[in-house]
Amino acid sequence: MEDPVRFRPELGHTIESGAKADSRLCWTCGSCDSECPVNIATGRLRPRNIVRMASLGMLEELLCHSEIWYCLTCRRCEQICPNAVKPSAIIEYLRMEMISREWISWETFQRYRDLFARFQRVRWRAAAACLGGDVADVTQHRWQRWLEDPLPVFSEKIISGNVIHAFNTYRGPMERAHIRLCFTCGECSSACPIACHRDVFDPRTVFRMAHLGLEEELFRSPALWLCLGCGRCTDACTQTVDGCEIIQSLRAEAIESGAVDRDLVFRIEASNRNIFPWFLEEVDRLLGHSTKPAAGCLRRAYA
Ligand code: SF4
Ligand code: SF4
Ligand code: SF4
Repeated sequence: MEDPVRFRPELGHTIESGAKADSRLCWTCGSCDSECPVNIATGRLRPRNIVRMASLGMLEELLCHSEIWYCLTCRRCEQICPNAVKPSAIIEYLRMEMISREWISWETFQRYRDLFARFQRVRWRAAAACLGGDVADVTQHRWQRWLEDPLPVFSEKIISGNVIHAFNTYRGPMERAHIRLCFTCGECSSACPIACHRDVFDPRTVFRMAHLGLEEELFRSPALWLCLGCGRCTDACTQTVDGCEIIQSLRAEAIESGAVDRDLVFRIEASNRNIFPWFLEEVDRLLGHSTKPAAGCLRRAYA
């Protein structure tokens, strides 16, 4: 029988001082679990548990918890929490702690990042299928192909006439998001967790296209539907451009204008249920976790 959980306040303080997540304010409502896109798609990432374990000071158990590598770092849990607890900050702290303790090698971490980057290709292709009216059905063969194959090169010439109505389109939301202040420095792209390959997703390009009035091209692009809504681009912008708001406005306008149908978001959610389990399997394989959470990791860490 496993040992009962012991409350270790000193380790709880260690986590809190590193993560600054206000985990003691959690009243375990589970809103974060309900809104976490990975949990919605797979039922295998529960930020509430992570917060509770952090409060109990279960540092070593958390460091061996496979769920911390399933997270997309989208910060949805943080945005939805009524008590402003930051589960995503705990996860980011735990990942860095694993690296500094060398419980995960730097090489493995780089391979994880590469996997995460290639996963964005899969998300792009799934979004493309959804824009075409389908739900992305993913077999193992298709998963591997989507993961490995680069995206098709974009060769369509932008029609210069479209640029004429720049500054007139969606003036309200775009103006409120300070789009005109962007001088394309690229800080947003550096901060964005999914801007790994420019051909897949690059927030600076999205904002510049929106600024030029190329919303029709954006509405047709799967990239518009990849944004996680984390807000890092907004936080990073010294020109106060609210990139997160720009993308949310573009999506709303795409639906309102009929450029995409209203069921698109439901098809994307259904596609997520098909592609996310493959990503989690791939993460497990890479990090050596068995199906029993973290057992393999625990063996390695304490060997
Ligand atoms: S939403 Fe906040 S208060 Fe509710 S379980 Fe999650 S962390 Fe705790
Ligand atoms: S950051 Fe996003 S993916 Fe990670 S636990 Fe929070 S809601 Fe889930
Ligand atoms: S909100 Fe900004 S930083 Fe976050 S995923 Fe979207 S574009 Fe990237």
